[in-house]
Amino acid sequence: MIQGNISVKTENIFPIIKKFLYSDQEIFLRELVSNAVDATSKIQTLARRGDLHEELSDLSIQIKVDTAAKTVTISDKGIGMTQAELEKYLNDVAFSGATEFLEKYKGETTMIGHFGLGFYSAFMVAAKVEVVTRSYKKNADAWRWSCDGTPHYTIEPADRAERGTDIILHIAPDAEEYLEKSKISDLLNKYCKFLPIPIHYDSRTEEDKIEKPADADVEADAENEDAGEKAGEFNTLVNNVSPLWKKAPAELTDEDYKNFYKEIHPASPDPLFWVHLNIDYPFNLTGVLYFPQHNGRLDLERNKVQLYSNQVYVTDNVRDILPEYLTLLHGVIDSPDIPLNVSRSYLQSDKEVKKITTYITRKVADKLNELFKNNREDFETKWKDIAVFIKYGMLSDEKFHERAFPFVLLENIDKQRFTVEEYQEKVKPLQTNKDGDIVFIYASDYKAQDSYVKEAKTYGYDVLNYDSYIDNHFFQHLEMKNQQKIRFARVDSDTMDNVVAKEDKKISVLSETEQNQVKEVFTTLLKNEAAAKVELKPLSPESAPVQIVKNEWMRRMKEMQKMSGQNSWGDFGNDYQVIVNTNHPIIADKMLKTNDEALARHLYDLALLNQGMLTGTDLSAFVERSLKMVQ
Ligand code: ADP
Repeated sequence: MIQGNISVKTENIFPIIKKFLYSDQEIFLRELVSNAVDATSKIQTLARRGDLHEELSDLSIQIKVDTAAKTVTISDKGIGMTQAELEKYLNDVAFSGATEFLEKYKGETTMIGHFGLGFYSAFMVAAKVEVVTRSYKKNADAWRWSCDGTPHYTIEPADRAERGTDIILHIAPDAEEYLEKSKISDLLNKYCKFLPIPIHYDSRTEEDKIEKPADADVEADAENEDAGEKAGEFNTLVNNVSPLWKKAPAELTDEDYKNFYKEIHPASPDPLFWVHLNIDYPFNLTGVLYFPQHNGRLDLERNKVQLYSNQVYVTDNVRDILPEYLTLLHGVIDSPDIPLNVSRSYLQSDKEVKKITTYITRKVADKLNELFKNNREDFETKWKDIAVFIKYGMLSDEKFHERAFPFVLLENIDKQRFTVEEYQEKVKPLQTNKDGDIVFIYASDYKAQDSYVKEAKTYGYDVLNYDSYIDNHFFQHLEMKNQQKIRFARVDSDTMDNVVAKEDKKISVLSETEQNQVKEVFTTLLKNEAAAKVELKPLSPESAPVQIVKNEWMRRMKEMQKMSGQNSWGDFGNDYQVIVNTNHPIIADKMLKTNDEALARHLYDLALLNQGMLTGTDLSAFVERSLKMVQ
């Protein structure tokens, strides 16, 4: 037997490994299975080159849990290791790598998946690790390396007839959850689902194995057969060795893409469409990104893009790699070129990662553009689902804004959709104001704002539909970005003659004194309502006698304040203006003659009603009053 000490500076590196990686303990399985996959790929390469003196035969990797012996074993039929290689790879190279790694990232807890610790991550869950291995080399002997979590190890001859390696983990008392069949099965499913070498997991429990007592030879034979069958039945294939994203897009049908989507997002409805990513220069990246159906829902799910590195699952938190709006997509990206053993801040500023992001952004935008160009009708039917994504992308990424501007759509309340340029052309003749700005009029709730919408229509104006919370920012964004000035104004932001302000001013039929008299009645009525400000305006006689408007700029400021959680109401002046139409017959005639405060109250209530602002006792008083009037 050979004994030795693993060359490390700190005698006690194992406790550090345990503590340091504690939160991500479970990655040990990924690391060990990846090593087995690497060893198997190497043997395939040797065979391809004709450097193998024996049959390749079955190359599958086997995972076993033995609850009685408290072991988890990972077995491969890869290249194996000679005695010298065991010493070199497991003692020197790997461990010095681990030490360096720990030195470098001590205290840094935000690494993606803790890549790079490899073999030694086994000590996060094992009190003792045994490696039984036999190299593919001619006449190589089998060896057993064993280490109990101190820097002391032993190497001795072992029994192993075939080429390959068994990693036997003697699970530590505080990690016994890893002896549960379902735990290992879950981990294999999470980390190893798409590894390129078949992985079998023997999920039989001890009870399964000793189901029948063996009395007679015949029975024993039968049982053996039975057990053999059972082993087959329980020894399930864990992975799909050639996942869709690794295949050539030309070989794949829509059905294939949908099936794969179901495989990774079992509970989701069919995706709308997808982008297959496939590039090998200047970096290597493959993957498929799906546009999910979410039907304008606001609670969009994130973390549905999984990151792989050569088919090894790394994480589903891709926020440092993808811009946030891309995390609204579902799917997989696989790139060995995304540096994984680095800190988050480094990752965000990394040039390679930036290139990757730019590439993905472009591919996604190209796909959207292609859909828009080739089948606009279909694009429009999907609009509800993709609108938030596109708007969010345009708001947060300059490049994406440029690419998406030609196909981002505005929808009017008649459910017609236009590109920004189309819409500009459409409304330009009537909705250009005296400063040359084109005014885009919108309703935030067109049913509640019906009387304002009607008023806009009488002017021949078109009304856009503001359909999600993001439009608040998006409209502002378009105002800022567009060279040819466009301005957004809500239907109730002013009296309709002034929403698109023109030169021609209407003249009031009332004299100044008469106007003051009318104003007095309303000012007295509203003296207790600090939020309201009375204004007289000579509107057309067809416009409402009294109406309530909310200044666009002031309202936006308040909305923004509210969103940012501040609540200093009043800083931006009045909440709304009460506009009295001095050219309306009820005002110009009746009101002037009677100074009737009850009439003023009723007209004001109607205006409140139109704004959905008539509530509480004011509302019930209004209803009672109206009933009396009808009687
Ligand atoms: P890495 O895999 O990043 O090189 P590890 O610490 O995981 O680092 O492993 C160190 C080395 O040990 C590997 O590079 C490989 O040469 C060898 N090794 C580990 N596991 C196996 C295995 N199952 N079969 C053959 N060689 C292995």
